[in-house]
Amino acid sequence: GKPPCSLAPVDPLKLKALSMGLSKELKILLIKIESAGRQTFNISEVEEQRIPLCKISIKNTATEVIRACKGTRVKGKFKESFVLPAFSVKPNIDIDIPIPREKLNPPTPSIYLESKRDAFSPVLLQFCTDPKNAVTVIRGLAGSLRLNLGLFSTKSLVEANSDHAVEVRTQVQQPADENWDSSGSAQTWPCESSRSHTTIAKYAQYQASSFQESLQEEKESENEEEGEQTSDQSATTKIIKFGTNIDLSDPKRWKPQLQELLKLPAFMRVESSNNMLSHVGHTILGMNTVQLYMKVPGSRTPGHQENNNFCSVNINIGPGDCEWFAVHEHYWEAINKFCEKHGVDYLTGSWWPVLEDLYSSNIPVYRFIQRPGDLVWINAGTVHWVQAVGWCNNIAWNVGPLNSYQYQLALERFEWNEVKKVKSIVPMIHVSWNVARTIKINDQDTFKMIKHCLMQSIKHIQILRDQLVAAGKKICYQSRVKDEPAYYCNECDVEVFDLLFVTSENSSKKTYVVHCEDCARAKSPSLAGVVVLEQYRIEELMRTYDSFVLVSNTS
Ligand SMILES: [Zn+2]
Repeated sequence: GKPPCSLAPVDPLKLKALSMGLSKELKILLIKIESAGRQTFNISEVEEQRIPLCKISIKNTATEVIRACKGTRVKGKFKESFVLPAFSVKPNIDIDIPIPREKLNPPTPSIYLESKRDAFSPVLLQFCTDPKNAVTVIRGLAGSLRLNLGLFSTKSLVEANSDHAVEVRTQVQQPADENWDSSGSAQTWPCESSRSHTTIAKYAQYQASSFQESLQEEKESENEEEGEQTSDQSATTKIIKFGTNIDLSDPKRWKPQLQELLKLPAFMRVESSNNMLSHVGHTILGMNTVQLYMKVPGSRTPGHQENNNFCSVNINIGPGDCEWFAVHEHYWEAINKFCEKHGVDYLTGSWWPVLEDLYSSNIPVYRFIQRPGDLVWINAGTVHWVQAVGWCNNIAWNVGPLNSYQYQLALERFEWNEVKKVKSIVPMIHVSWNVARTIKINDQDTFKMIKHCLMQSIKHIQILRDQLVAAGKKICYQSRVKDEPAYYCNECDVEVFDLLFVTSENSSKKTYVVHCEDCARAKSPSLAGVVVLEQYRIEELMRTYDSFVLVSNTS
């Protein structure tokens, strides 16, 4: 944990001098007094009540936060977490109690809806987003809601946009619970696949001919059974192609398909007011837009958690099934260690867990079949990997239901990504401010976490601002424009919020590059040639911060 007050020791004299130098203001209070029947005024100097920065909490006003920042001499870079462990809402899962073998294969929560109305019940949302439920399958949801999944069949896709781009993964077909190393002698974790590109029409042709071939093989093997066995099937390695990450974001190209998905309950939809991804302000391909997957048997989506631990929705279009494996978020670090041991990067590499390794580490694994029309809800942070059993298409996207568990996991991964120098696809600071501006929060845990994040954000901005000004660096205010994206550092991919360190890489072409403070200083310690842009007035952020309050459920 971090020390409660991670600041340099404060010299009271210097502090006084600093504060007078920076905030040239003397507050005077006029007090009306009666004196011998006449009203006069008494002038008194107000002692500014300054709370030490380490005592500041979300109970304080923005003014108090700013004042505390101004009154604190921060030596060097100010860096504190946006997550407060005391606010954690993670479920208590005891990792030390050995789980009997049969319980390491727990049944997957499967919901059978009695009626269409049940899909829209708040109970379903509550169940799916319960931190204890890693994964939920909603059986036959497409049927219950009369979704026309035929719109996503290979035939319809070819008719709609045959030339559309498809990313292809070339893989080795193998049983779902096996992953052999290249020599074929042992099970292993890494599962590399090579990448190429094709079109929907061409993949459709491949998918169809793969199906025809297998029918043919089936026929031949039936004939062979009558005669003598000629070949050992298990010895042959079959190479397959998986059509992945097909972008269905364009509303003009995919209008009927996208319209059909509006029939889903709000919390599962691509866009909804309580979905954090609807408050990013711009498109994040595959997260707040739909992606399509075209599969033949054996097509593998390796193990992963979603970007920033967001939830995901996946519908099997059919005609074949998919097999899923899922592990609760609680165990991700144990899985991370297995990846490290096998030399594959947990966040960016391709790996397929060896089930025996998980069981021997006391990690329960959900394993289930997703049939056509079934919707799989992957809860926040759930580690999962998927393999096609038959020939099928799937559609999927992410959602970020605004609850405390989702928000906490998203912020935690935001910070872990920074440690691992991996880009957070969801700009969580930008999203947090947008949420505070637009959404009324009535859940106390969620409110406290967001408020804390905003407070930390203000602290970082104000302290950095004061340091820049004290060093004589000019800060240029440049208000954000409509649809302006969130910014990331060009070098380290960290989100850069409000104070942008901009360089002009090519003055004639007028290309500007955004950096974080660290990377800007790495290039030029004095920030020579770096323009500091400020996208929000501090007063604006203070107003948003103070206006963001817990809304009572009854009002
Ligand atoms: Zn950087």
